[in-house]
Amino acid sequence: MTYKHPHGHVFYRKMDHARPKISHGEGIYLFDESGKKYIDGSGGPLVVNVGHGRSEVINAMTQQAEAAAYVHAIMFTNQATEQLSSELAALVPISNPRFFYLSSGSEVVEGAIKLARQIQQARGHAMRDIITCRSLSYHGMTLGALGVSGRPGLRKPFMGMMVNMPHVRPPYPYRFEASGEEIASRLEESILAYGEETVAAFIAEPISGASLGAVVPPDDYWPAVRQICDKYGVLLIADEVLVGMGRTGKWWAMDHWQVQPDIMVTSKGLAGGYFPLGFIAAKTEDVELIRQKLGDWNHGGTFSHHPVGCAAALATLHIMKTEKLVENSATLGQKLGQMLQDALSEHPNVGEVRGRGLFWGVELVQDKVSKIPFPAARHLAWDIWQRAFDKGLIVYYSQGCADGQNGDVIMLGPPLIINEAQLDDMVGILTEAIHEVLAKK
Ligand code: PLP
Repeated sequence: MTYKHPHGHVFYRKMDHARPKISHGEGIYLFDESGKKYIDGSGGPLVVNVGHGRSEVINAMTQQAEAAAYVHAIMFTNQATEQLSSELAALVPISNPRFFYLSSGSEVVEGAIKLARQIQQARGHAMRDIITCRSLSYHGMTLGALGVSGRPGLRKPFMGMMVNMPHVRPPYPYRFEASGEEIASRLEESILAYGEETVAAFIAEPISGASLGAVVPPDDYWPAVRQICDKYGVLLIADEVLVGMGRTGKWWAMDHWQVQPDIMVTSKGLAGGYFPLGFIAAKTEDVELIRQKLGDWNHGGTFSHHPVGCAAALATLHIMKTEKLVENSATLGQKLGQMLQDALSEHPNVGEVRGRGLFWGVELVQDKVSKIPFPAARHLAWDIWQRAFDKGLIVYYSQGCADGQNGDVIMLGPPLIINEAQLDDMVGILTEAIHEVLAKK
């Protein structure tokens, strides 16, 4: 295909691809300029938690922008940021937390890594600067976040520019049958190999997101990881950028195992897509220790603690509470899982249907018994994505789950306001798209 450059003076990540121009959105639907209607079955990359066109969020943002659109967080605080933090404090799995706001998932991951380092410095552990992470993981595109990510294709051009952190195996029951404790023991081995006095933190996605596609770990994994981190004084960073804010049927994915991280980050659904916003949550005692021992936290950003962003997040949070969207995610999530199993699990190329809450993945394989993936060059996930898109369903896709390069997974993560009939429509279109594309393999 030749590059058509259909977008005037704009360039996008995926270049050889013409995009429809969007007109507007409403609820779980988007409409393009030609009038075509799409079900936003993944809320973009798992962002649109309360749906499109919510006047409550828009009004809250307008009011805040009229009052004070921007203030520098070095000089001022603001009511939206303070109130959002008080309300979030009652929800996060960190007791007595403090919050720091930035503008994206990558940024809060960068911040969390630097915070972990500075907490260790404040504790008197100056040598601890290693962040242990996992292969087949994703934490963002900026060099620090990419350095702790396990996506070979994304990392390759920049290897010489990144700090290479140790990667350990993630839980992936479909391809690697092992107890959670056994997989967690790889973390312990890595800490001991590098020397416990050098490891600052372990970062991971509580339920694997963009790389593996909705992989839920065995129940004994996170408790075992927590124990190992405690044993060696390693901080636990939970990256809830994708799976937080009710996506998996609880406020936070870590809540499924009642495991408390030391640092937690989220972004995507936090302000429902109305504003680019993420937070880092940490224990007050650790933040206070930095203040006492180091003076300040050596990090920041022009748009940190943005008042309009925090107003958007606060209004999003209120909708989530009023409309009981976390409960909806749990209840309808089970239904979505069942619908996908019923529609797809018998298909000869569907290896696994997996997920939790309103976040589900369908892994495709050449052969169900051997679990051999399709070669990356086949671009199967992309083809299915495109077919579903043509039919008016937006899904999320990923390639590389099997070995970093090969392995196709299609993900669904609709707005949490979705109802059962809409789930049915979504599963119907996805099933058709999968059947049609694979009929031609
Ligand atoms: N962390 C996780 C778990 C993610 O899934 C992502 C994005 O997909 C990021 C971090 C990076 O977020 P952003 O794209 O907002 O920089």
